[in-house]
Formats: sequence, C-alpha cells, structure tokens
Amino acid sequence: MAPNLLILGGTTEATALARAVAEAGIAGMVSFAGRVDRPVRQPLPQRIGGFGGAAGLAAYLRAERITHVVDATHPFAAQMSRNAVAACALADVPLVALTRPAWAPVQGDDWLRVPDIAGAVAALDQPARRVMLAVGRMHLADFAPNPQHFYLLRLVDPPKAALPLPKTEILVSRGPFTEAEDRALMETHGIDLVVSKNSGGTGAYAKIAAARDLSLPVIMIDRPEMPERAEVATPAEVLAWCHGADLGV
Ligand code: NAP
Repeated sequence: MAPNLLILGGTTEATALARAVAEAGIAGMVSFAGRVDRPVRQPLPQRIGGFGGAAGLAAYLRAERITHVVDATHPFAAQMSRNAVAACALADVPLVALTRPAWAPVQGDDWLRVPDIAGAVAALDQPARRVMLAVGRMHLADFAPNPQHFYLLRLVDPPKAALPLPKTEILVSRGPFTEAEDRALMETHGIDLVVSKNSGGTGAYAKIAAARDLSLPVIMIDRPEMPERAEVATPAEVLAWCHGADLGV
C-alpha cells in the first residue's frame, strides 16, 4: 500500500518534513492544534484542531486510511505525543517521532535549570528584574505570582485576553530570529534575565546565544517526559522509514 502520512505539526521541523514528503511525492496531511491565527502554509494538505483525545485520533487514522504517523510536534507538546502513542497502538498504525536534541550549556552560559513552568515561576520569586519571558502564550498566566518584574513577551498573535502581569511589553512577530536581532532586542529593553523552554533545534536558539553574548542569566525549563516511542532526527530518516527501512527499535 502506498504510504499516506499524518504529520503532527506546529514546528519548523514539521514544515521541513512536509516539504521533503511533498518533494518525494508521498501523500500526507499536516495537522495543527489551531493555537495560532495563521499557521505557516504547508506544502501538503493541512487540517486544524484537536482530534478528541487518543480515541478520536485512532478513529481519524482509520477513517483517513493513514499508514504512518510522524509526531513532529514541539518537545513540550507532551499531551499530543502521549495521545499519538496510544492512538497508533489502538489503530495499529506505525509511529515515529521527529525529534531534536535538547540544548546543552556551553562555555559562557549561565543557566539555572528548572524542571517545569512551576519551577521557573518559583525561581522568579525575587526582587524586580527585566525579564524576557519566552514560554509561549499558553503559560503566561502561570507567572501572575511574580507581578514585580517587567516582562518582554514575543508572541505570534496578540493575547486574546488581558494578561495578569502589570508590566509587560508585547512584540507580535514570528521567528526564527537571528542572534544579532535578539541581542539588540535585549539591549534595547534593558533585559537582565531570560526565561526559556529547552526547545532544542535552531529556530529558537538565537535568544540563548544572545543571552550568552550579553552575560545574562537564563532560567532554562527542562523538557517534559515523553512516552517511549521510535525517534529519528531528520526528514530523510522519516522518508526511509516510509519506504520500509527498519528503525531498529
Ligand atoms: P499539547 O498540550 O500536547 O496538546 C493538547 C491538545 O491539543 C492535544 O491533546 C490535542 O487535542 C491538541 N493538539 C496538539 N497538537 C496538535 C496537532 N499538531 N494537531 C492536532 N491537535 C493537536 O500541545 P501544546 O503544547 O498545546 O502544543 C500545541 C501545538 O503547538 C502543537 O502542535 C505543537 O507542536 C505546537 N507548539 C507548541 C509549543 C509548546 O511550547 N508547547 C511551542 C511551539 C509550537 P485532542 O486531544 O483534542 O486531539
């Protein structure tokens, strides 16, 4: 049977995979959660919105005759990744995750590693700082216990509701950004602390390199636990897997 992929997307890596899949002439669908107003246009057909948990995704896989699922979601999208594992088991469809290694500190980095968002909030229980808060729109309200700080927020879409943070500046723009741009941004806003998820990959790394250039501390949020699953690092490995290559897992 010819491959018919479902790519769980929402990342730069998923878009790159979709391009490779389209160029290889393989059929596929890219799925978005619908968190941003205008998702990046894909070189494959796309659908938007949740499936309704693992059972809903399993039903979708059967209905659409999906032969392979690629979880190319963000490393912090743990619920979707758990659902993908469960749904593929239910529907007996093979699954692979397209992942990127976590960032590791290099010389000159000044990181405080915390296990999760709550850990970052706890670490911000300190006198007022000027913080670049790079955690995405969904988690901003979690930082309400620390209203003393100025927060620089860079978001893909403007917030839909008022934020519980009294001192913020919001920049609406979509990455990737360069190290020089992020250094200039931090200097312009007098940033003295950066909070970031450990996303890994290149697309979001500029702010980490810029913080190092400026000798700024970074509160680095570790990734959530992921379920056990086959993982690959490149679109080429995904294509080979679609054509029957054994991933050795
Ligand atoms: P999540 O907490 O793991 O997922 C929550 C629910 O959203 C899922 O159970 C599923 O709903 C739906 N969902 C998530 N990803 C989906 C997808 N690609 N297609 C269809 N439904 C999806 O996910 P999240 O952290 O909110 O991330 C949502 C999306 O944003 C993901 O696609 C991710 O790649 C992207 N993203 C996330 C981050 C981040 O920091 N978390 C950063 C950049 C991009 P149902 O249970 O109804 O199926």
